[in-house]
Amino acid sequence: MNRGAGATGLPSSRRPQQAALLQKQSMPANLIRTVFPWLLVAVVAAVGLGLLTVVVQDHWAPLWLFPCLQGIVLGGCLTAAMRLLQMTRKRWAVAGTVLAVCVMFAAQFYGSYRVYRNALVQKSATVNPQLTLDDMPVEDNLLYYLRLQALTGRPLTKGTTVYGGWVWATWGLDLLLAAGTALLVVVLAFRRPVCPLCGRWYRAVSDGQLLPRAIARASQLVEPPVSRDSYPQREAQFRMTSCPTAGHGSQLELFWPNRVRRFKGSKKQPAAQKHSGEARARWDVPPGSTVKLQDVLADDSPPE
Ligand SMILES: [Zn+2]
Repeated sequence: MNRGAGATGLPSSRRPQQAALLQKQSMPANLIRTVFPWLLVAVVAAVGLGLLTVVVQDHWAPLWLFPCLQGIVLGGCLTAAMRLLQMTRKRWAVAGTVLAVCVMFAAQFYGSYRVYRNALVQKSATVNPQLTLDDMPVEDNLLYYLRLQALTGRPLTKGTTVYGGWVWATWGLDLLLAAGTALLVVVLAFRRPVCPLCGRWYRAVSDGQLLPRAIARASQLVEPPVSRDSYPQREAQFRMTSCPTAGHGSQLELFWPNRVRRFKGSKKQPAAQKHSGEARARWDVPPGSTVKLQDVLADDSPPE
């Protein structure tokens, strides 16, 4: 895959320095204002989803697919909370996601254990109303319940049931699948730019398709201006994102999907031929050019 050649994929040279400065200056304040509230929301969401799973898995829980779906839903919740709370620290996001997946599984196991325990109490009450759980010859804790589940076995397919250590192994695999999909969702969310001036997530402003002449005009409004031979000369999909703070920057993301194109006299067009594959570019838009660029995007989008 061609990830956009040369200058097309690079942010302006000032950006990393500004971002580093911003991170250094406001680290403790940022931790208290955004990271800790986000971690708290992540743990609450994980507990809620874990308990919800106990109810859902009684009716529907396809093997291996279910933990992946759990991971996707949890990752979606964590991403939404990141956007709302302006949590933009990737390392904290990764660590918090792993923590949240572990909390979700702990809540799920604990919920199942409570259901099992309540069923046991009800059963004993029907047999002998005087009997309490304390009178029963079973240990009453989560670990005992999990051991019991492992001994009882976990049916994987019709006719295949695993026991003992293999049950623990399948639980471990469930956890890895959920963690993998949740991390994928959260890490992909970091493709959205963060403002180097105020540290807030850019918001999606507009998207659509752009004709080559509009891309050429846009390439001269961005910073630094992009030369014509560094991007494919064909229609592209675009997405514009902007900092929510007025007067801060924007970013224009362009995507040229991979498709076979027949260039007439392709030997005479080495630039077009070079970019015939999939390509992506991210161009920074300075505050002064934002309005002009929006006009270009609005005027030159092909009619639907
Ligand atoms: Zn900003």
